[in-house]
Amino acid sequence: MSKPERARTRPQHATMDQFAVVDNCLQVGGRSLLEVAAQVGSTPFYAYDSALMTTRVAELRAALPAGIHLHYAMKANPMPAVVQHMAGITDGLDVASAGELATALATGIDPRDISFAGPGKSSADLQAAVASGVIINMESEGEMLRIAALATAGGTRPRVAIRVNPDFELKTSGMKMGGGPRPFGVDAERVPAMLAQMATLPLDFMGFHIFSGSQNLRAEAIIEAQSKTFELAFRLAESAPAPLSWLNIGGGLGIPYFPGEQRIELTAIAANLESLLAAAKARLGDAEIVMELGRYLVAEAGIYVCEVVDKKISRGETFLITNGGLHHHLAASGNFGQVIRKNYPVCIGNRVAAPELKTVSIVGPLCTPLDILADKMDLPAADAGDLVVVFQSGAYGFSASPRDFLGHPHPREILL
Ligand SMILES: *Cc1c(COP(=O)(O)O)cnc(C)c1O
Repeated sequence: MSKPERARTRPQHATMDQFAVVDNCLQVGGRSLLEVAAQVGSTPFYAYDSALMTTRVAELRAALPAGIHLHYAMKANPMPAVVQHMAGITDGLDVASAGELATALATGIDPRDISFAGPGKSSADLQAAVASGVIINMESEGEMLRIAALATAGGTRPRVAIRVNPDFELKTSGMKMGGGPRPFGVDAERVPAMLAQMATLPLDFMGFHIFSGSQNLRAEAIIEAQSKTFELAFRLAESAPAPLSWLNIGGGLGIPYFPGEQRIELTAIAANLESLLAAAKARLGDAEIVMELGRYLVAEAGIYVCEVVDKKISRGETFLITNGGLHHHLAASGNFGQVIRKNYPVCIGNRVAAPELKTVSIVGPLCTPLDILADKMDLPAADAGDLVVVFQSGAYGFSASPRDFLGHPHPREILL
C-alpha cells in the first residue's frame, strides 16, 4: 500500500439521500441507526438495506430494455444473505472463485444462470465449475485445454464462453479491465483461432464475455463501449462453431462516491441498448444478452458504522479516533485503487445535522498514517460514543479489506 496524495479541495460532509433522517438520527432498513446498533450488539459493523437493493434493481429494470438479463457480480458483496437476496431479484450471479460459487449454489438458483470468470482459475475452481454446470468464462487458451481435459475425464460437456480482452477501452473508467495488454480474457484478435481449436474439443460453446471496465459515471463513455462491445461480438460470432446463445456485455455503471459526482443518467444508455438489441436480434438471433453489475446494485444500500473512541486535538487540528478504519474498509481509507485520496461521504449517524460544523479528521486505531476515514471534513461536533457512518459502503467493503491487520476485532455484518 503506497500513500495516496491528499485531495486539495476541502470536501464537505454529505448525507446520502437514500437514507432518511428522523430526529437527527440516520434511519437504515426503516429503523433508527441506534436501534440497529443495539441489535448488532457491538461496533463496528456494516449494515445493508435490502429494500434499497430491491428498489435499485426494479428501477434499473424499468429503465433498461426488457431483453437485458441482469446478473449480480457477487465479488462486490459476497455476504451469503446479500447473495441470497440478490439471487431472488436478478436473473443470475457471476462468481470469481470456487468459494463464491459455493455461496451462489447455496441460494438454490439454477446453475445455468451462474457464470464463472477470473484469471488464474485453479484446478479446484475448474472442477467445481464443471461439476456444477455453470458457464465458465475462459480466460486463456490454456484454460480451455484444462477444461477440455476435465470434460474428457468426466465424460461431460462443460458450458463455456470466451472472455474477450476487447480492442478498445471503457474511457474515463474508475477501473479499466480491458483494452491494451491485460491479464483478463483472450485478446480479441486471437479469438478466431481459439474458436477453431474449440470446435475440436468436448465443450458446449455458449458465447462471449466482454467486460471493459467498471465504476463509470459518464453515459457517453458507457454508450460508446457498449456499441463497440456488440460490434466486436458480431464480428467474432462469424468465426464461432455454433450460433451464440449467450453474450455477456459486462457492466461498468458506477456510483457517486466523491463530492461533485452525480448518479449516472440511464435514459440515453437505455435508448442505445434498445437499438443494439435490435441489431443483436438480426445478427445473433435469440442469444441471451447479460449485463453484469456489482457495486451499482448494492453499494449505495450499505453503510459502515464505527464508534468514536477518543477525541484529540493536535496542534490545532481535531482528530476523532474510532474503533474502525482501514482494516475494515480499505476503500474508504483511500487505499483500494485511488490515486488521489478523497473522502467518502461520512456523517455522524446519531447527530446528522447541527447549526455549526467543526472541521475534523476521522482516523482509525491502526498505527499507520494510512488509516483515515475522513480528512478535514466539516461535521457536527462529535465525541466518544458517537457513531461515524461511511456511506456507499455496500460494495468492496467488508470482503475487500485486510481485516486481520493489527489484530483488532472484525466488523459484524447485518442485512436489514
Ligand atoms: C468486478 C467485476 C464486475 C463488477 O464490477 P462493479 O464495478 O462492482 O460493477 C463485473 N464483472 C467482472 C468480470 C468483474 O471482474
